[in-house]
Amino acid sequence: MDFSFTDEQLSIARLAKSFAVRELLPGAAERDESGEFPLDIVRKLGEAGLMGISYPEEWGGIGADSISHMLAMEEISYACAAMGSILGAHYLGSDGVNLAGTDQQKERYLRPAAAGEKLAAFALTEPGAGSDLGSLSTTAVRKGDRYIVSGVKHFITNGGVADYITLCARTERGEGTRGLTVFIVDRGAPGFRVGTKENKMGIRSACTWELVFEDCEVPAENRLGEEGEGYRLVMTILDRARVEVAAMAVGMARASLDAALKYAAERVQFGKPIITQPVLREMLADMATEIDAARLLVYRAAWLKDRPGRISKEASMAKLYASEVAMRAAHRAVQIHGGYGYMKDYAVERYFRDARILEIFEGTSQIQRIVIANQLTRG
Ligand SMILES: Cc1cc2nc3c(=O)[nH]c(=O)nc-3n(C[C@H](O)[C@H](O)[C@H](O)COP(=O)(O)OP(=O)(O)OC[C@H]3O[C@@H](n4cnc5c(N)ncnc54)[C@H](O)[C@@H]3O)c2cc1C
Repeated sequence: MDFSFTDEQLSIARLAKSFAVRELLPGAAERDESGEFPLDIVRKLGEAGLMGISYPEEWGGIGADSISHMLAMEEISYACAAMGSILGAHYLGSDGVNLAGTDQQKERYLRPAAAGEKLAAFALTEPGAGSDLGSLSTTAVRKGDRYIVSGVKHFITNGGVADYITLCARTERGEGTRGLTVFIVDRGAPGFRVGTKENKMGIRSACTWELVFEDCEVPAENRLGEEGEGYRLVMTILDRARVEVAAMAVGMARASLDAALKYAAERVQFGKPIITQPVLREMLADMATEIDAARLLVYRAAWLKDRPGRISKEASMAKLYASEVAMRAAHRAVQIHGGYGYMKDYAVERYFRDARILEIFEGTSQIQRIVIANQLTRG
């Protein structure tokens, strides 16, 4: 087993870090305050090549491996968790085309996504269907050379500004996860409308919207894969994306640790810096150890992602553990800052709010535990 990085992995991590330090760190607090979607920075992210890291060179990506991709996610999210979420949603929305798209679909949707010319979103969740995909009620009915899509999706990151949306809808009557199909819906599709933008606790500039489909016309050529194969495709996309969320979590936890280390070295109480207090040193040691453990789970899942076979268990373990580590790290960082940590003047206040989403989106922690337990007990 080799724990060292290749030159390519290191160079992509450096590229992401230099972009993050230059473009993301400076305005992160202001973007959190305004809650405005940073379209200008997303364009720059694309120009830097960071929106197609692991997509094949043939389709305009860098063609790097998933470890490189995760190193970049960690650096971006260290600097700005909201930008990590925007980027994660972009990959979530374009990975289906990468995995199941025809050459024609890849030309039209993957190439511009990899180049950052088109922003993607992924629309699964509905007001009545979150963890339970079997209760999705958005329908897609075939009419000649098109499908008529009707329904409402909500909490969709990038949804209001994306150039296209990968959407899961029901093509067969009945309940359950059978009969689901995935489509690519263009922003300008007739019958598609952007609804309410949510006012969120954290990752506030990674805006989420309600999306409304009223007899929305989607050309049949925009179907991803076959009718009824949607559930399997969505689960594969989610498995892969959960590794990205775990990498985001590692970056966010690291930001909390660095802020805590800095503050603890500067803050003097009882005549000496609080970093000399054994109780706080123990907290810092626990934070660092947990972050490294989470990182190893991320790297294992990323390594598996580039190889054949399902990664459900390893991806869920990485997502579950890393998101809980990020939450604990943010909690401890606020504690180490004392009352100052409760104030918006210090970044840890934002880190605490941002970290909370990691245990919810792309499958809650409860759902990750169910996935892991199911894999353990499979006959
Ligand atoms: C900021 C943000 C961004 C998001 N971005 C996207 C996006 O881009 N695209 C998208 O499609 N969705 C997105 N989502 C939706 C997100 O994935 C869902 O919110 C999440 O999967 C949970 O669904 P829910 O909110 O309906 O909760 P519910 O499914 O209603 O769950 C409520 C509670 O019940 C628990 N629970 C549910 N079922 C079980 C069970 N069987 N056993 C034990 N516990 C259970 C859950 O863990 C949770 O604690 C986003 C959400 C947020 C908040």
